[in-house]
Amino acid sequence: MNYLPLTRSQQDWQDRAAEIAQRELAPRAEQTDQTGQYPQESLDTLKKEGLFGLRVSKEHGGLGEDMLTTCLIVEELSKKCPSTAMCYKMHLEAAEIICRIPTPYQVKHFVEPMARGEVFTTVAGGESQGEGDNWNATQNVSHVEKLAGNYQINNVRKSYVTSAGKASHYQFRCRIGADTPQSQPSLLFVERDKIEWEIVEPWHGLGMRGNNSCPIRFNGLVPEENLMGEEHTVQSQTNSFNRPVVTLTYGAAYLGIASGAYEIACLEVAKRYPSGSRRIDIPINQRRMAEMGAQIEAARALLHAAASAFDQNRSTSQLPYIQAKVLCSEAGVRVTQDLMTIFGGTAFAGRLPFERYFRDARAGLVMGMANDAAYAGMIPMLFPPEN
Ligand SMILES: Cc1cc2nc3c(=O)[nH]c(=O)nc-3n(C[C@H](O)[C@H](O)[C@H](O)COP(=O)(O)OP(=O)(O)OC[C@H]3O[C@@H](n4cnc5c(N)ncnc54)[C@H](O)[C@@H]3O)c2cc1C
Repeated sequence: MNYLPLTRSQQDWQDRAAEIAQRELAPRAEQTDQTGQYPQESLDTLKKEGLFGLRVSKEHGGLGEDMLTTCLIVEELSKKCPSTAMCYKMHLEAAEIICRIPTPYQVKHFVEPMARGEVFTTVAGGESQGEGDNWNATQNVSHVEKLAGNYQINNVRKSYVTSAGKASHYQFRCRIGADTPQSQPSLLFVERDKIEWEIVEPWHGLGMRGNNSCPIRFNGLVPEENLMGEEHTVQSQTNSFNRPVVTLTYGAAYLGIASGAYEIACLEVAKRYPSGSRRIDIPINQRRMAEMGAQIEAARALLHAAASAFDQNRSTSQLPYIQAKVLCSEAGVRVTQDLMTIFGGTAFAGRLPFERYFRDARAGLVMGMANDAAYAGMIPMLFPPEN
């Protein structure tokens, strides 16, 4: 259901995304998960459909679609292959700033090529603190030096980079100058083919196994033309549009895990076994299916309302966006957990794809802004500090 009314164009996009996902993503999803292979063919389909330029303005040759349409598309893709949807969502997230506030140089070299499907991006954000990746602390990033028209990246290791080595461009979070505090980061648009990079170790995640979210080490010079926004102030400069896009597209991807798994469950619970019984005839399963349906609709209604508020510039804080992210990711975890119970040994043995959705859903609690951090971040918005 779409409880929030959609325009004709939004409805058409939802139908079109559902058709693409069913035709192209669904048949490859199981193999992507089993082999951990990057879903290149599925992403090539999205490129052919013009979707790399979804949020590039029409003026620059893109589709210029709104946030609600973006969420509808990401949910439909995620229903069929969460790994593909997550790679695509990271592209949208990483591209937003350069699409919104590009310099003339960036329009020509990055934004218009993105509309043509020649630029696929991701985020190289967090760095580990110490050895390995046992404490990421996303906000703390290394510095780069400014040297004669370039920024020098000196062997910086980013911990989890979705589409690592596959994306053509990386939104690279850093500080410019060693004395710049962590509270004043900057963003560079790093071109893969113009810098040294190496994948430090392969990706063997519990879920989102096709993501290729490997650590990457970057080294080399990035031209100053590739600075996104202004030095030191990108956070405050882009907060009003970038953070909502980050959180809402996460919400859409995790909601798609919940609703994709639930759609399969609706068919399976109604199947009649040779004994004549159906899983849906058991009262506790009826209760669970009804409850899951309500959780999904609640999460979707909030996501759509928040996306619509963003499109209409109605929200005065980040609160609805962050609430939508946590609610959608929790719907993903709760729904898939219950489906593992309803479908018992069949689910546990992997004879139905619920365990894949269950594993993918777990990323929603820790990824992007971890939900615990998101809830902590809501408190100052709910209870503004006293002067
Ligand atoms: C599948 C996947 C893909 C990813 N892709 C990318 C990517 O493309 N680009 C990128 O930059 N990063 C990416 N990440 C990294 C991600 O965004 C997080 O930074 C990372 O998952 C955090 O991992 P961590 O072990 O450092 O978590 P930690 O920061 O150690 O957090 C672990 C737990 O500690 C608690 N916690 C931590 N901080 C707080 C806080 N401030 N307040 C309250 N509780 C807190 C929470 O319970 C949290 O769940 C990806 C991660 C995953 C799992």
